[in-house]
Amino acid sequence: MKALVKQERGPGLVLADVATPEIGHNDVMIRITRTAICGTDIHIWKWDDWAQRTIPVPMHVGHEYVGEIVGLGQEVRGFQIGDRVSGEGHITCGFCRNCRAGRRHLCRNTIGVGVNREGAFAEYLVIPAFNAFKIPPDISDDLAAIFDPFGNATHTALSFNLVGEDVLITGAGPIGIMAAAIAKHVGARNVVITDVNDYRLDLASKMGATRTVNVAREALSEVMTDLHMTEGFDVGLEMSGVPSAFTGMLAAMNHGGKIALLGIPPSQTAIDWTQVIFKGLEIKGIYGREMFETWYKMVSMLQSGLDLSPMLTHRFPISEYRQAFETMLSGESGKIILDWTV
Ligand code: NAD
Ligand code: ZN
Repeated sequence: MKALVKQERGPGLVLADVATPEIGHNDVMIRITRTAICGTDIHIWKWDDWAQRTIPVPMHVGHEYVGEIVGLGQEVRGFQIGDRVSGEGHITCGFCRNCRAGRRHLCRNTIGVGVNREGAFAEYLVIPAFNAFKIPPDISDDLAAIFDPFGNATHTALSFNLVGEDVLITGAGPIGIMAAAIAKHVGARNVVITDVNDYRLDLASKMGATRTVNVAREALSEVMTDLHMTEGFDVGLEMSGVPSAFTGMLAAMNHGGKIALLGIPPSQTAIDWTQVIFKGLEIKGIYGREMFETWYKMVSMLQSGLDLSPMLTHRFPISEYRQAFETMLSGESGKIILDWTV
């Protein structure tokens, strides 16, 4: 089958022939129809330090996808040939304390599809049936293909009650933008989002952010004054991984504020702990998606009117994957869909 493969320990990926995976007793085989490019795939494309430490070579990558079930292991129940599915990219062990308690997102033995094992940028993907998630017919293929990052945004944004709250989101990458749309959808008051990229801030504004702030030009404190926010933000969602964004967030929080951290900062990043202590802040780290509560919430938010379609800014046939990655590298995009059916 064809797949986008890291063939050598260096930048780029190539569309090449690889062996079609075999189906185990508890697996489903999915014929991939659409995939999307994640920031992680960009790290892999660039072959940065993290990718060099993490990605086995040769291996095909990718973990944002939708497709159709074309094969079922003999033990699989609850799925049928022809089901349209996306899937949870974290494959969990099933035997650790958290897995056995139903807190799969906290599994200490998680393996990432397209990171630690073969991925979804391929004609066929085999995953445990447990990880597959059926997509209702009223949700488009393109949207289904971005359930993985939409799930990161959902898991983070729904970590705290946002109803009537003032929410600060740092980082208007695809995940931050989707989090802004979710915050507005569930009833937040002010949803302020920061970035240094005007293209992305414009997109965030189309998606429901009530105020965008380019921190390269504008001070967050002045925007807060404009919005008559005399006390500070109630909830912060850190989605940039940039230390100065987190520092700015700590300063902008009200006492008793709650922060969910999704963005991955450099290890050993220092912060002013007195902000956390004297403000009585609550900070929660977020990894992946809750299995499968986050997935149900994604479907129900889309079915109750959350519109993520402005997020889908580019589509390419898989043969034009180089152009697709270049577009993503430019920073002037929302989510980029690759079509495997043409
Ligand atoms: P992204 O890199 O596309 O978005 C980050 C954004 O932050 C960019 O638009 C960038 O311009 C912006 N930024 C840069 N400097 C800034 C500043 N000073 N203030 C505010 N924004 C600034 O990434 P993404 O795919 O949207 O993911 C967001 C973050 O979440 C990344 O750090 C990613 O590694 C992380 N992530 C974590 C998980 C998890 O499970 N914890 C999962 C997926 C992604
Ligand atoms: Zn586990």
